[in-house]
Amino acid sequence: MKNLEEAKKRDHRKVGRELGLFMFHELAPGAPFFTGKGAVIYNELQRLMRELYKDHGYQEVITPQFFDVNLFHQSGHYQNYRENMYFSKMEDRDFASKPMNCPSHCLMFAADKHSYRDLPLRMADFGRLHRFEKSGTLHGLTRVRTFCQDDAHIFCTLEQLQSEIAAFMKLLNHVYQIMGMDNYKIYLSTRPEKRMGSDQVWDQAEGALMKALEQNNLQYTLNPGDGAFYGPKLDIMFVDALNRPWQLGTLQCDFNLPINFDLKYTGEDNQEHKPVMLHRAIFGTLERFIGVYLEHTAGHLPPWLCPIQVEILNVTDRVNDYCVELEFALRALGVRVHFDRRQEKLNYKIREAQMQKIPYMLIIGDQEAEKKLISLRLRDGTNIQDLTREVLFAQIQKNLQSRSLQITLT
Ligand code: ZN
Repeated sequence: MKNLEEAKKRDHRKVGRELGLFMFHELAPGAPFFTGKGAVIYNELQRLMRELYKDHGYQEVITPQFFDVNLFHQSGHYQNYRENMYFSKMEDRDFASKPMNCPSHCLMFAADKHSYRDLPLRMADFGRLHRFEKSGTLHGLTRVRTFCQDDAHIFCTLEQLQSEIAAFMKLLNHVYQIMGMDNYKIYLSTRPEKRMGSDQVWDQAEGALMKALEQNNLQYTLNPGDGAFYGPKLDIMFVDALNRPWQLGTLQCDFNLPINFDLKYTGEDNQEHKPVMLHRAIFGTLERFIGVYLEHTAGHLPPWLCPIQVEILNVTDRVNDYCVELEFALRALGVRVHFDRRQEKLNYKIREAQMQKIPYMLIIGDQEAEKKLISLRLRDGTNIQDLTREVLFAQIQKNLQSRSLQITLT
C-alpha cells in the first residue's frame, strides 16, 4: 500500500508536469514534446554517452529517417514487424520510417570493403525511430511511438565476441554507477527451438556471453530457450528505488542481418567471412529512460542533469547588482543558473525553488552583498552561511564536472 502511494507520487507524468519537462498533444499521440528544461536532460544524457563513445572506440553516424520499403524487405522487418511501422507513398514509391537503425548500419557497412584489421567496427546512432503502438497501450514517456535510443551496432569477428561483450558490460556498469543505479540484474537468454544458424555458432555465441559475464564476476539468471531466433541476448533489468524492475539495457548477438545484407570482411586467411553483429543499448530509449529515472529519483536529479542547477534569490532589490554579478560569473563557468528577482517573499521563492528540486540556492541579502559573501541553501534543507564565491563556485563546478550524485560541500 505504501509503495503504491509512493509510486503514485513518483509517477513520471506527474513529476514531469511539476518540473515542466515535457508535454503531449492530441495532434501527435504518443509523441512527447520536450520543453527547454526537458531537452536539457535529454541532451545531457546524450553528451555523457558521446564522451564515453569517444573513449570506447565508437564512431557516431547519422542515417536517414525514411527509406524505400525494399530496405525492410531485405532486413526482414517488413515480413516480421510491419504492424509497427509507418508507411508513406511519394512519387509512386513506397517508403517507410525506420523502426530501428540496424538496416541502415548494414547498408553503411556493406558500402565499404573491410579487412579483419578494421574490426570491431562500432557504429553509434541517436537516430529518431518510429514504432506504432496501439492507442490503449501508450503511457507517458515509458510507452511512446517515437523515440531515440543510445543505439549502437558492433560488427566483429566470432573471436572478438567475448571481449566486445565484456567491454559492453563494463561500459554499462560505468554508466549505471554514474546514474546511481547500482541495483540491476542480468538475464541471459539462450537458443530457442525455432532458430537459424548451426549449433556450433550458437555454442560459440552463448559461450562467449557466459564467459564474458563470469570473467567480470557478474551474476546472471539463465533464460533457457528465450533468445531471439537470430541469436542469444543479454537483458539488463534495472531495479528502481521502489523495487520495480525495468528492462533498459540490452545486448543481442545477431547472425541473421549479416546474412540478409551479405556483409563480409576479408580474414587473415585472405578468405571472405561473415561478421557477427551486436545490437546494444545502455539507456535503451532516452524517452523511457527519462521516465524511469524520474520515478527512481522522484525528480531529485543529480546536479549535472538538472535543467537549473543554481537559483539566486534576492532578499531585497538593493542587492540586485551583486546577484547579477554572481549570475554572470556562474554562467561563465558553464553553470545553468537562474536569478529569481521577483518581488515575492523570500520564503515563497525558496519554496518554489525547492519544488523545482534545484540543488543549489544562493540567498543574498544586504549583509551578503556588503561582505561579498553568499548564504547557501541546499535542496535537502541544509543551510551554510558566509561562503566565499571562490570556495562555493569551485565546489559547484567540481560536483558538476565529476557528475557527482551528491550535493555536498567539503
Ligand atoms: Zn539493432
